[in-house]
Amino acid sequence: MKTYDILTIGGGPAGITLAKILGGKKKVGIVRPEDHSMVYCAMPYVLENLIPKEKILKRDELITDSGADLIRATVTDVSFKNKNITFNDGSKCKYEKLIIATGATPTIPPIDGKDLKGVYTFKTENDLKLIETVIKEKKIKKAVVIGAGAIGIELAQALNSIVAECHLVEMAGSILPNLINEDFSKDAQEEIKKMGILLHLNDRVTQIKGKDRIEKIVLSEGVDISFDDNEGLVVFATGMRASTNLFNDTELKIGNQGIIVNNKLETNIEDVYAVGDCVQFKSGITHEITLGKLATNAVPMSRVLAHNILGDDRVYDGFFNGAATKVGSLFIGGTGLTEEAAKDKFDIVVGYSELTTTFPIMPGAKLIKVKLIADKKTLQVIGGQIISGSAVTDKIDIITLAIQNKLTVRDLTKFSYSAQPYQSFFPANNPIVACAENIISKIKIEKESQKTDEILC
Ligand SMILES: Cc1cc2nc3c(=O)[nH]c(=O)nc-3n(C[C@H](O)[C@H](O)[C@H](O)COP(=O)(O)OP(=O)(O)OC[C@H]3O[C@@H](n4cnc5c(N)ncnc54)[C@H](O)[C@@H]3O)c2cc1C
Repeated sequence: MKTYDILTIGGGPAGITLAKILGGKKKVGIVRPEDHSMVYCAMPYVLENLIPKEKILKRDELITDSGADLIRATVTDVSFKNKNITFNDGSKCKYEKLIIATGATPTIPPIDGKDLKGVYTFKTENDLKLIETVIKEKKIKKAVVIGAGAIGIELAQALNSIVAECHLVEMAGSILPNLINEDFSKDAQEEIKKMGILLHLNDRVTQIKGKDRIEKIVLSEGVDISFDDNEGLVVFATGMRASTNLFNDTELKIGNQGIIVNNKLETNIEDVYAVGDCVQFKSGITHEITLGKLATNAVPMSRVLAHNILGDDRVYDGFFNGAATKVGSLFIGGTGLTEEAAKDKFDIVVGYSELTTTFPIMPGAKLIKVKLIADKKTLQVIGGQIISGSAVTDKIDIITLAIQNKLTVRDLTKFSYSAQPYQSFFPANNPIVACAENIISKIKIEKESQKTDEILC
């Protein structure tokens, strides 16, 4: 039986990162069943015909060039006691250290009709293929996307470019509820309506009706969506659940959000680790278990683990959840806690700025709105949101760095930045600094009014 120093179940971003760092230095095996790992983030843009599908299929060499073996198989059993795994063809393989990187699977709420033909999820190459095929073959006219998180929104835009009528259903009162607050989502919602997508907020799918194939979607607010023969398509983008079925009935400890690990990504079983979407982890801000199924969390976890295996002593601090999306012509990003989430734990103060993406005198200058959320007591930055006519991830990342390093709003007022006519607002102002100053002035005004109140009393 072949033995690996490091055997990884899963060849997504987490598994690939491990292979890149450990391959050649240790005897590494990466197990995954699919023909290709994919750039999942770009799946909507394939559907939209903006890029060919081949461009999002990752090359096997990303794994094998490092010297790691790619084992194309499904793991059907793991014996932690004997330190071996069993593949779908019955063969086995031994490990010194096992890394679980099995990712996450889309979830569909338990409603009647969820198994009818015409209902899809959106994660794998096969999901993409099925949706592309059904659109072509059945000449789909109406599409319904359930869930207006980043994936749902990007998917709805893609489908809207293909079908005659596209609905987006969200049970919260605004889109992107885990990324931005209602005030910031208003512009994006306008943009969605401008594109012709029919947005249903504060609404839920309660039932899908049909004999064999979907015929009607029943919504909680009473406006049902009906499909004539074969013309409909429903895609659920309502979240992901850690893929941990393989470990049911084993001694591996699993929580509601995934496999339980410590800050060195060690599980409760010796020589067994877990990284990426299959893991349950805490917020780097509140230190409570939180959502965080992002490639930008999976990859850093794998880096921590891989370097520790090579002798380093790193820890993974938690999820900060910097993320972004694009809605029509708007780029939208958020990081840390939203106001809603922050209010549960902190007394918060929120600052705003509104400037332009370049010197306003330059051609093509676009609006940028920034929001910072801080803990009123310590003035520590705990969240940020941006909506802009150009890319926001660089600025979102600055705010994340501030949160990670426990910087205060006062620290941000001292932020030393660069300026250039095509790339920033005038040197007189930087949107993050302006936002921090806005918070400071709010605090000053509040203190002044408290003093006045005391004098008057
Ligand atoms: C449409 C879409 C858009 C997204 N956009 C973004 C984005 O913009 N930014 C961002 O940060 N994240 C984004 N994500 C999330 C990101 O793709 C995931 O967080 C990331 O893929 C997680 O990586 P992972 O390696 O942990 O898991 P996965 O990528 O899910 O990989 C898991 C691997 O494990 C394998 N596996 C599972 N069980 C077994 C088994 N029993 N035997 C063998 N192999 C097994 C799977 O086949 C797969 O290869 C997006 C996701 C989707 C679907």
